[in-house]
Amino acid sequence: MYRIGITASVHKSRLDRSMSSVTVPPPACLLRPLEAPLRYLFGPGPSNVPPRVLAAGGRPIIGHLHPEMYGIMNDIKKGIQYAFQTENKMTISMSGSGHAAMECAVFNAVEPGESVLVAVNGIWGERVAEIAERMGANVHKMVKAPGGYFTNKEIEQAVEKHKPVLFFLTHGESSAGLCHPMDGIGDICRKHNCLFLVDTVASLGAAPIYMDKQSIDILYTGSQKALNAPPGTAPISFNERACQKMFNRKTKPVSYLFDMTHLSNYWGCDGKPARAYHHTGPVSGFFALRESLAILAETGLEESWRKHKEVSGYLQRGLEDLGLKLFIPERDLRLPSVTTIAIPEGYDWREMLVYIMKNHQMEMTGGLGPSIGMVMRIGLMGYNCEKTNADMALQALADALKNCKKTRG
Ligand code: PMP
Repeated sequence: MYRIGITASVHKSRLDRSMSSVTVPPPACLLRPLEAPLRYLFGPGPSNVPPRVLAAGGRPIIGHLHPEMYGIMNDIKKGIQYAFQTENKMTISMSGSGHAAMECAVFNAVEPGESVLVAVNGIWGERVAEIAERMGANVHKMVKAPGGYFTNKEIEQAVEKHKPVLFFLTHGESSAGLCHPMDGIGDICRKHNCLFLVDTVASLGAAPIYMDKQSIDILYTGSQKALNAPPGTAPISFNERACQKMFNRKTKPVSYLFDMTHLSNYWGCDGKPARAYHHTGPVSGFFALRESLAILAETGLEESWRKHKEVSGYLQRGLEDLGLKLFIPERDLRLPSVTTIAIPEGYDWREMLVYIMKNHQMEMTGGLGPSIGMVMRIGLMGYNCEKTNADMALQALADALKNCKKTRG
């Protein structure tokens, strides 16, 4: 009976196709079920998502302009204010990944021809410099090798020299595994009438950051790292100084989708009674983001920071016991969410990573941008931040060290 049914339907579909107006047939790959294997995501992100957050994302869709959705967006806003430690009312989530927040910050805060100063000590500064160049800013870079950091004196000298309207710094440089010191930089920017923009995509929830206390004018993050939501949403917040600048522009931002005059209304931040349609937000992504922020609120920021520090310290000791060298020598500057190791001499890092994926179903990664060929990266964040996971990662690395042939040296 079953076989006859199948044969009949195949025959019918052939017949339909011969009479069909479409010349491109349905792709055979889509007639097979979706395959998404369970993997240990111990790289720099995305990280594994807890069942509770996955379940929230699987709730029935509601309209993005329904009152319940506005309520959920208001909850998200409160959760971001807590996670960022800010009282800024201009606090929203982008419909897009961390890059959307990067572009939103630069596109709104800067006008073509204005001076922008970017601290480059890995890929993220490079990216922001490129984004600012593309929109016509006059970009100046302060450059250090991956893993390097900038002193407040160096920053102040560069700010004095280039007189930027915006200074960009990455808090958690995930390509190098560095957690940049933050104290005093906001005050330098204030003194020189420059906005301070900080990227916390890889550090939020894992290392302390205080947007208001540290005088950060614009702060953004991503959903898929220590927050443990699926990729695709990106919290961002602007303080009064940033709003003053971006809402008194002479020119419109280059992007309609990322224009904060529209987004602030969509998120109910502009004080107007009605929220108008601007774009259709990722409803399921916002459900999941709300749940991940709820978990952070329940856990508490300080506990989350403490745990990341404890587990990353445990992982780092284990790595040293394996004879591996940590890429960031200063313990206090190591990013608690993403640990970087120098590539062990005589090993091909690609071969090691492939071996670990094949034999342990575990993702670790190599470097990114300027750190390619310099580091291997292990991320234990949020839900994955457990000593048992650190033990699994160490076992996988020990196995790879034993079994991956030395290719050179
Ligand atoms: N900044 C940092 C520090 C990151 O680690 C990442 C993602 N790896 C990004 C920005 C970009 O985020 P996304 O990939 O979500 O666009």
